[in-house]
Amino acid sequence: MYHNIAVPPPRGHAKMRGLYVTPRMFRFQMWYLRAAGFNVVSLHGILDFIRGEAMPGGPPGPPSGRASSSRLIALTFDDGYMDFYENAWPVLRSYGYPSTVFLVPGLAGEANLWDAEQLGTRKKILDWPKTRELAAGGVSLGAHTNTHPFLTRIPPERLKEEITGSRKTIEDRIGRTVEFFCYPYGDYNAEVVRQVREAGFLGATSVKRGFTCRGDDPFELKRVPVRLNTWPLSFIYKLHSDYEIRKARNRF
Ligand SMILES: [Zn+2]
Repeated sequence: MYHNIAVPPPRGHAKMRGLYVTPRMFRFQMWYLRAAGFNVVSLHGILDFIRGEAMPGGPPGPPSGRASSSRLIALTFDDGYMDFYENAWPVLRSYGYPSTVFLVPGLAGEANLWDAEQLGTRKKILDWPKTRELAAGGVSLGAHTNTHPFLTRIPPERLKEEITGSRKTIEDRIGRTVEFFCYPYGDYNAEVVRQVREAGFLGATSVKRGFTCRGDDPFELKRVPVRLNTWPLSFIYKLHSDYEIRKARNRF
């Protein structure tokens, strides 16, 4: 789970600098995935794994195996920042890695208005021409609501417009089917999940930590956060140890 791929604002000027990964570190991380033999797949590839379908290029793992044991990785980028276009995409393209960018279409071409004030920083959101360019270049686009609200805190009658509405807006603008959803702030409940399923999505990403297992719920996909302080050794440790699983346990 990535957010911004850029050099963060100076210390003290913005909260949540942790959401940034510097372009230099990102380049290392993408290089490492290739060097260590990971297989970077789309979220579709993860769904196939969950359902136990054989992956090309390797034997199917044991029925209860986890994605990391099959060395599958899907790369996701939340919020659709312009810095994805500038700093992440060229690197992804050079490795031929698939990726998914979760857009907030109500704010296309604007900024992170949902948290710009609290964070003390305005971050530019992708506009439609750049988004179309990414789609044409093979980047998958997911929906992350229209305005990035806490979905369990808004009136239920607004859910449909945030969930189905965001999907429709992206599909109308880009002319491609939008298949995955991402819950803003990882905030959801049974009703939110029900509406996401009903909207026709194939799956949704949460902010629950850990690896994906066969048989997991595709509407509660776990992720591994990569942050500003994810130094090379931490990145490698996250990938090869049970660190993320232990982290997930500690939260409950
Ligand atoms: Zn978000």
